[in-house]
Amino acid sequence: MDPSSYQLPVRMLVVLGVVVHLLLVASIFDIHFQTPVVRGLDPVWPTMEAPAQRLVIFVADGLRADKFFEIGAQRHRAGEAFLHTIARERGRWGVSHARPPTESRPGHVAILGGFYEDPSAITKGWQANPVEFDHILNRSSAAWGIGSPDIVPLFTKGIAHASGAMYSVELQDFSSAALAQLDVWAFDRLEDLLRRAGLSAPPADPLDSDDPWRDLPVGTELDHRLRQSGVVIFLHLLGLDSNGHAYRPSSEEYLANIAIVDEGVARTERLVQEFFGDNKTAFIFTADHGMSNKGSHGDGSPDNTETPLLSWGAGSDHHPISDREAGFHQHVDGCPARGPTPPEWLLDHAMRMDVDQADIAPLAASLLGRPIPLNSVGLLPTAYLNLPLPAMAEAMLANARQLLAQVARKAEVAATSCISSALHFAPYSPLANSTEQLLQTRDLLQSGVLTRLPERGATSHHGASSNPLSPAPSPAPDVRLPCVHRT
Ligand SMILES: [Zn+2]
Repeated sequence: MDPSSYQLPVRMLVVLGVVVHLLLVASIFDIHFQTPVVRGLDPVWPTMEAPAQRLVIFVADGLRADKFFEIGAQRHRAGEAFLHTIARERGRWGVSHARPPTESRPGHVAILGGFYEDPSAITKGWQANPVEFDHILNRSSAAWGIGSPDIVPLFTKGIAHASGAMYSVELQDFSSAALAQLDVWAFDRLEDLLRRAGLSAPPADPLDSDDPWRDLPVGTELDHRLRQSGVVIFLHLLGLDSNGHAYRPSSEEYLANIAIVDEGVARTERLVQEFFGDNKTAFIFTADHGMSNKGSHGDGSPDNTETPLLSWGAGSDHHPISDREAGFHQHVDGCPARGPTPPEWLLDHAMRMDVDQADIAPLAASLLGRPIPLNSVGLLPTAYLNLPLPAMAEAMLANARQLLAQVARKAEVAATSCISSALHFAPYSPLANSTEQLLQTRDLLQSGVLTRLPERGATSHHGASSNPLSPAPSPAPDVRLPCVHRT
């Protein structure tokens, strides 16, 4: 046979191979590098009375859970621990599970925005905001962010009611011997802010370039802004991340920094309580990601994904553990955690409630009685809230409506796209009647028919094993997310 007769099919095969591979590569980007941010959503306001007037949220950058709780237990034995005592006696505690990439920006987006990073941000080194997104500072009535120039502007820049205080980049020098001073700096600036509200005239040098609050008003005007409802104060504490990178998380520097943060949070709580004097402040303490033994982060190892979560103050619950619950802790999505809580954490008698990192955003919004950030995928961890029964149901309903709005909007957009209409797009049928179900639920709530919530400790706050809105018009669809955690 003449070899030239093979020429055409071989050439076609090569072209076909190239086309198929290009299609496969394009599909990877089409599937995995799409922004999770859905446009065109309206905020869902919860109808219950806000349990807290304001929220102070501390994010200790690079603080891994086991080191935090171990040092807390040691300080507790010495009678010095503040946050450990909160977990034991006054608030709720658990491990917040971050997702890779365990970097600062994705962690903060999950905590404050309630969703897992926009993959297109990778092209900008996780620094700038490649797309605008909604978050809890944006949802607040007034907000102040204090901390690193790499993080704070992500949540304050371009928002008229938000102000930021950032130190200079030089202060973040990893070779510095006093990296914990970054955290002291943040606590001091909050003190300055509260003091400024008490001034009757601007400070002597109003153009003092070292004063990050120089553009803010003083006295009554600032005082009024601080005392309105729906205020968020966000403290970003970079010392631990810097010490972890420079000296590793087993170092004296890192462990001493945990104590400095503990003391700073105690000082902040005292100052805030003295300033407002109304016991209407909610506090959340957590971290964006952990730190590996080598002093790095980014991957999905438990050292990097497991971070502490504590909440206390107005609207927060405390639940001493009963004998029946000893050794028990709940974890999101029914996934087992890494193992039982180590006894050296000295937290056996205070029930542990783990969450996915994005669940912190609906918790923060519900404490403030504000809309949950629009693109949040978080599920309200009800065990962290101490609310009257109808208010708890209202908060859960707002969360369900906010999640459903995203599904409905995505289905709407998909249905109008050329490819979807060519392929006869059909909406996800188990959620077909959800809007009506939620409206019926709301009507039941408003008519006062609500009778009970599931017994705590008996069911997962994420599960659908017991319907809290009883009687329900029909069984709620099981929208439980797949287990994403490693064991
Ligand atoms: Zn970080």
